[in-house]
Amino acid sequence: MAKIGVFTCWCGENIARHVDCQKVSDAISHLPGVFCSVNYKYMCSEPGQSMIAEKIKSLGLTAVVVASCSPHMHLKTFRQAAKNAGVNPYLVEMANIREHCSWVHSDREVATQKAIELITMAVEKVRHNHALAPIEVPVTKRALVIGAGVAGIQAALDIASAGHEVVVVEKEPSVGGKMAGLSETFPTLDCSQCILTPRMVEVGQHPNIRLYTWSEVEKVEGYIGNFKVTIRKKARYVDITKCTGCGNCWNSCPNKKIPNSFDYNLGNRTAIYVPFPQAVPARPVIDASRCLKFKTGKCGICQKNCAAGAINFEDHDELIVEEVGAIVVATGYQLYQIGKEQENPALAGYGEYGYGQYKDVIDSLQFERLISASGPTGGEPKRPSDGKVPQKIVFIQCVGSRDNAKGVSYCSKICCMYTAKHTMLYRHKVHEGEAHVFYMDIRSGGKKYDEFVRRAIEQDGAIYHRGRVSKITEETIDGERKLIVRGADTLSGKPVTVEADMVVLACAMSPTTGATGLAQKLSVGYDEYGFLSESHPKLRPVETNSAGVFVCGACQGPKDIPESVAQASAAAAKVLIMLSQPHLTREPEIAKVNEVLCAACGACAKTCPYQAISLEDIRDRKGNFVKRTARVNPGLCMGCGTCVAVCPSKSVDLEGFSEEQVYAQIESLATPLRINGQSEEGGV
Ligand code: FAD
Ligand code: SF4
Ligand code: SF4
Ligand code: SF4
Repeated sequence: MAKIGVFTCWCGENIARHVDCQKVSDAISHLPGVFCSVNYKYMCSEPGQSMIAEKIKSLGLTAVVVASCSPHMHLKTFRQAAKNAGVNPYLVEMANIREHCSWVHSDREVATQKAIELITMAVEKVRHNHALAPIEVPVTKRALVIGAGVAGIQAALDIASAGHEVVVVEKEPSVGGKMAGLSETFPTLDCSQCILTPRMVEVGQHPNIRLYTWSEVEKVEGYIGNFKVTIRKKARYVDITKCTGCGNCWNSCPNKKIPNSFDYNLGNRTAIYVPFPQAVPARPVIDASRCLKFKTGKCGICQKNCAAGAINFEDHDELIVEEVGAIVVATGYQLYQIGKEQENPALAGYGEYGYGQYKDVIDSLQFERLISASGPTGGEPKRPSDGKVPQKIVFIQCVGSRDNAKGVSYCSKICCMYTAKHTMLYRHKVHEGEAHVFYMDIRSGGKKYDEFVRRAIEQDGAIYHRGRVSKITEETIDGERKLIVRGADTLSGKPVTVEADMVVLACAMSPTTGATGLAQKLSVGYDEYGFLSESHPKLRPVETNSAGVFVCGACQGPKDIPESVAQASAAAAKVLIMLSQPHLTREPEIAKVNEVLCAACGACAKTCPYQAISLEDIRDRKGNFVKRTARVNPGLCMGCGTCVAVCPSKSVDLEGFSEEQVYAQIESLATPLRINGQSEEGGV
């Protein structure tokens, strides 16, 4: 029989204020098998841990219950303390009498009684625990980074520079993401491409980085430390090992009027193209959906003009398998697609702004291209309809953001900042121009961010109106086409009408298309909007619920560049911690199949969210078939318990959370121990 020690913590006043810890200890000491029941001000402190160790040694305790805070906080601490004193760490249980008791009750007697019951349950559980050993899994010392915007680039460079191989998969023909198309960046107004391109080049040339652009992840198999990833390398129709980047092909391509997606369709490109001059790799790709050769069978001019013989119309998609130990997801964001309302009724609701209807109503990323030196107008803010320089621009913030009725409920966090930047950059180029901003609140938390917005207003003369725009119409006034922006200023309580030449919508940041599909392949959770979920918003912000998969950048939530970069380095650090170990250890509290009982119905395998169960044949020594059974892959199982709930023959159980343990806990409530140490019938 287990010799159990119970250690009740006051957590300073956190627990002791509402729970009488002495009465708890006294009552618990009456439980059978409890050889010691003590309480102390801070059990997690060094004296507290020493007390546990001392009692284990002096009384020969074989199991321990600590009644304190959530196991999320200190289970590791107490398991280690017990291990140091010679008790198997899996014979340590915690009763959460803080979050589950003292913090949520104010009646001292009730809370004390509840604490006694919670601890009794933990004692009943630990009585049925048995010693376990952590599982060791090998680790492939390479990492995969999916998405090569600034976040993916940073993560890849950090891991590669620490000496590990990194496979980078980017779905576009070049690395760089959104930042490659930005003009200048808040809060310092340094040129986006000037600070990003050196890192893009480094990713392209780093000896430890294998870069797959124009590629996507098709399939992910395996588990932490041992992933097998199938990558679809899309047909580029240009052999980049032969191509010299001379440009003869795109300069000679007759098909020149294709909307350029890098410029958000404000400029044109050819059918064979390099997305932008500083692209990495600086090699072209043929857009087969627009190329005359593919559409009509004629043309092929690029091939004729390519001295390197790099054009290959026979090219096809390739599937490549890479083995990696860890995965970083950095797939970024896109703007809330208000222009797609007609295609997706869920996005309907901003028709009043005339986006997609009036040429001079554009979104914020389009404006970035209009004021970027590498953009379609060479950095001149010319309006798309007639190329005239707008003398009055209205910027509308929170389009889609913070709008439960029509858009998304969250704040996109960066729009206040980039709109202030837009007004400044516009006024730096058009000195007499008027920049009007309609806003709900200004949210500029960040180093030198508030000063930046003030500068836009006080030095650069942006005119801010606190209120929403209700309607935009296009009218011709004195022979000039104008956008009439009607809104309200809630500070003055008056309606405001601005006759603008152009309108820029600061649309909400959304996860990129396909993010949820990728998340499903990786068994990573995501929220109702499709942003990938971190394990814990404060303590594990770059880890996911899928072991070995990390997140960084705007795929996890709206973020600016500094935050994306910081998070990328954090994800890289987590990967490096993993890759620096000879093997990985995993908690042994995972599913276990009783192969004798298992009827191989497959219910568990179908429902396991981590694809951790497969059906396998059992054969005797001579290779004869004996029976089929479910088997758990210990590297993949996350111990969620779904399989236990669905198995009709009760053949699966969870180590450390067995049915026996759960029922023992419930049964203990049937005759609850009272404050006076007596048990009474009539509990739950
Ligand atoms: P992204 O830049 O979106 O990169 C993600 C990458 O992943 C892309 O290359 C994409 O093609 C790739 N990808 C997506 N899905 C897949 C897939 N399935 N497989 C492979 N690859 C995939 N921040 C600032 O700090 N200062 C500024 O001045 C500033 N100005 C801004 C102006 C505007 C108008 C906007 C909208 C944002 C601005 N930002 C600014 C924010 C900045 O753009 C983001 O913080 C930054 O780009 C986030 O980087 P990321 O790498 O997470 O995402
Ligand atoms: Fe490359 Fe040939 Fe085009 Fe030159 S002409 S950029 S070598 S594909
Ligand atoms: Fe352009 Fe296609 Fe003709 Fe090449 S074959 S020049 S890409 S249209
Ligand atoms: Fe899959 Fe069962 Fe493990 Fe959950 S406990 S991950 S359902 S095998």
